[in-house]
Amino acid sequence: MKILFVTSEIHPLVKTGGLADVSHALPLALRQAGLDVRVLVPGYPGVLSRLGKASTVCTLEALAPIWSPARLLEGQLGDTGLPLWVVDCPSLYDRPGGPYQGPDGRDWDDNPLRFGFLCHVGAWLCSAPAPLPWSPDVVHCNDWQAGLIPALLRHHQGPPVPSVMTIHNLAFQGNFDPLWVTRLGLPMESFHMHGLEFHGRLSFLKAGINYADRITTVSPRYAEEIQTPEMGCGLDGLLRHRQAELAGILNGIDESWNPACDPALPAAFDAQRLAAGKRRNKTTLQQDCGLAKDPDVPLLGLVSRLTYQKGIDLLLDTLPALMEHPLQLIVLGSGEADMESRLREVADTYPGRVSVTLAFDEPLSHRIIAGSDLFLMPSRFEPCGLAQMYAMRYGTPPVVCETGGLADTVVDCTEGTLGERRATGFTFRNATPEAFKAAVQRALSTYEMRTIWRQLQKTGMRRDFSWKQPAADYAGIYHTLSTRAQTPQS
Ligand code: ADP
Repeated sequence: MKILFVTSEIHPLVKTGGLADVSHALPLALRQAGLDVRVLVPGYPGVLSRLGKASTVCTLEALAPIWSPARLLEGQLGDTGLPLWVVDCPSLYDRPGGPYQGPDGRDWDDNPLRFGFLCHVGAWLCSAPAPLPWSPDVVHCNDWQAGLIPALLRHHQGPPVPSVMTIHNLAFQGNFDPLWVTRLGLPMESFHMHGLEFHGRLSFLKAGINYADRITTVSPRYAEEIQTPEMGCGLDGLLRHRQAELAGILNGIDESWNPACDPALPAAFDAQRLAAGKRRNKTTLQQDCGLAKDPDVPLLGLVSRLTYQKGIDLLLDTLPALMEHPLQLIVLGSGEADMESRLREVADTYPGRVSVTLAFDEPLSHRIIAGSDLFLMPSRFEPCGLAQMYAMRYGTPPVVCETGGLADTVVDCTEGTLGERRATGFTFRNATPEAFKAAVQRALSTYEMRTIWRQLQKTGMRRDFSWKQPAADYAGIYHTLSTRAQTPQS
């Protein structure tokens, strides 16, 4: 079966968060399961420069003459063998900055055009008669950047290619001025509350949710949560309406996240040989980040986008009380300016005990996840979250809020769960500073009980977070859709 996987990020070429990791690992797992997957991405400079030997599949001028020149390139992702189709359109993608924002941190004004074009190319590849020798049986659209594809497919002649829309974060919706409806070649008749319109604006994500054949999100708990007014970001009514087509499939983590062979780490370790390797990672990290070198003091790590979603303020608000305990804190992140400046102040207040790096640094993120004793992830909501799974894999029990994928992946440490050898971390119910502080204090007390701590670490390290089952679940959905598409409707 042939799958076109459309995404705006893919690790290691372009990454702002978990979507990049998923767009790398899931297509590879699907290929291992025997599916013919191709990934369609925009040709940002970071993608083109690392594409290696690429060939031109076709030009795209006929599709979008005013955005010319544009062409479709074919390469592969590193040495993985995963075919990458890259939309090379310099006027839209060849610029400094990130995939969505300029170097000044502001969204590009022409984002509707940049991702609208990606959607047009994706939909064109699905059109009939097939424009290229390879044409997909199913198109898998990820997040708002690919959300217009299912809407565009509705207006195609011939048998429609079925579509899956995956919501990696409902809070990012791609809502724009309605002027873009016609500018993007969408029919004005679709601009109503049961179509593309959301509070007077054109919504890419709503379009995807409305018109896709199946909708998935990245954990079972989040699939429930987004159907509630509290967590539905205004789209809960539509999601309840489409409940029968909505599924929550928990993300996996890529095999390359493995402390036994991670090239970013100063020392390898696994569940059998844990203590010495973990210790070496910890002391090297302390030294590299300007913390006092002390293998016994608990080291708390946080690697995150610095946003309200991630509950960074819960940490900042409780920090004075937490710092009364003997502990160290290491933070790696980038994001909202006020959080960055509060974190800078904290680092100045506690030299040698708090280290803050305001950057996006992949190797350092691995070293923090491996070298810390405890991983903090107090997110207010979390569609799935990968970092807590990486932390468990690296023997670093996480402290998390009981929400979304965090609730689905972390088993709170209680007498009962320890007895059943299921405990993997520490959870708290409400995203308040008090609840977060209590969970961290519980974790610090448990850290003193070394045998129990080892058990907690090892249980987390042995959990199966592989992509095998999730890939099989996606393959099942594709299969159902393509069979249905091939069956003549009576
Ligand atoms: P989200 O996608 O909401 O940001 P996830 O936990 O699903 O959250 O994925 C975040 C990914 O981005 C993880 O791989 C995490 O390690 C990584 N990450 C986040 N911030 C940074 C950073 N400043 N430097 C390096 N990696 C980061």
